[in-house]
Amino acid sequence: ATPTPVSVIGLGPMGRSMVTILLTAGHRVTIWNRTPSRMTDLIGQGARAAADPRAAVQASPVIILSLTDYRAMDDILGPVADRLAGRTIVNLSSDNPDRTRDAARWATDHGAAFLTGGVMVPAPMLGTPAAYVYYSGPSVTFDQHRTLLGAIGEPRFLGSDPGLAQLMYQAQLDIFLSALSGLMHATALAGRGGISATAFIPEALQTLTGIGPMLSVGRDLGRQLEDHDHPGDLSTVTMMGATAEHILQTSRSAGIQTALPAAVLAHYRTAIDDGHGDDNWTRIIDGIRRGDV
Ligand code: NDP
Repeated sequence: ATPTPVSVIGLGPMGRSMVTILLTAGHRVTIWNRTPSRMTDLIGQGARAAADPRAAVQASPVIILSLTDYRAMDDILGPVADRLAGRTIVNLSSDNPDRTRDAARWATDHGAAFLTGGVMVPAPMLGTPAAYVYYSGPSVTFDQHRTLLGAIGEPRFLGSDPGLAQLMYQAQLDIFLSALSGLMHATALAGRGGISATAFIPEALQTLTGIGPMLSVGRDLGRQLEDHDHPGDLSTVTMMGATAEHILQTSRSAGIQTALPAAVLAHYRTAIDDGHGDDNWTRIIDGIRRGDV
């Protein structure tokens, strides 16, 4: 690949890792960070420090942002908006989809091409075969920079709507954060009954990794959900709802927080109240889609 001059603004754990990867891939990397001390060791690795955001923008045709949120982008790029024309901004920071759409409009109004991205792995995994990143924005811009971005992680392009990358990112994090809360709740529940965390966690990790294969064996879950097809031949809303009830009861008697199991049980109760007790557990999506509390 031809080395591309690239600027990286934002040197948290993610931005720092990206800089190292891009330098290793042979690119000319210019960096800027609000807290200058975070640039020092990267300069030692061969990165060029920009004196200010204006210099960082002017140094490269491609500017990667790795910031806490999109407000940070406004703070940094707002004052240098007149320097953005003809450049590509790749914002790999998190925010909500509407916010990313507004930012894309703003950048485009200033003559820049804008890609939004959602990085799906933590910093130590960037640049490894396990790394992948969702992108959305103009497909021409994505194609132009696919190789450069590929060094960070496998690029997965979702479409031209700039909000898509963050929507996909957030939907995946919805699963992730719910699972993490479930994991901590379960660890607390088991702990009250004398099962230590060291005994519990390996079992819990087997459950977590087993969910994917369990949900895909002999079934195409996505197709079934799209077709509103909820066959109850292997498990039913009534059976799963009873289990959810038992978890709530056990949590209550253990004296631990009950908000999470109560919310889960509510999904099943709604489907039962709707008359779908004999359907597959996937039927709970109806109440969720309806916006039931
Ligand atoms: P951090 O939030 O730790 O830091 C990001 C950078 O944002 C820092 O360089 C910080 O500067 C800068 N910053 C924040 N606010 C401002 C501001 N108002 N003006 C100027 N600079 C600002 O980020 P991470 O590296 O952990 O993450 C970057 C992005 O990647 C986030 O959006 C995160 O959600 C996402 N992400 C993170 C993952 C992770 O495992 N960490 C995994 C996947 C995605 P300063 O150094 O001066 O504070």
